[in-house]
Amino acid sequence: MTLKNRLSKLEKAKRGITAEADCLCFPPDEPPFLELRAEAEAAKSVLCPLHGERFSRVAPHNYRVIDLPVHLDPSWRNQRSPQYIKAMDVSFPSDRWPSTKIVEPDGAVRFVLKDGTEIHRLDPPPEILEYKAPTDWEQPS
Ligand SMILES: [Zn+2]
Repeated sequence: MTLKNRLSKLEKAKRGITAEADCLCFPPDEPPFLELRAEAEAAKSVLCPLHGERFSRVAPHNYRVIDLPVHLDPSWRNQRSPQYIKAMDVSFPSDRWPSTKIVEPDGAVRFVLKDGTEIHRLDPPPEILEYKAPTDWEQPS
């Protein structure tokens, strides 16, 4: 191999590494775990400069009461690959994100973006009602 060939090969390899560094995609085997529609839409609207769309679908998840949206919850960080963390970090542009948690006087919780969009709401805790025997269950006379 001539020196010129070797140099050209090195340059190509270096370009490959640079390209990888610019990639903002989620790893194909690690689709984004985003439960709120607003989170998934925000992540979808951010494109990779090299590959365009960064994921085809969000990770499957079971229904649960979301008391802390993923974008406010750092607990997933130590279980994910560096590429996943990078992809997640660019998913929420700072002009609108993160949301602010607002607790209403009645106990309802709202998550509101910087532009005022409400992305999630938790109903107030149920009041404890005094037990009242149903009257329509009385036996007919
Ligand atoms: Zn990419």
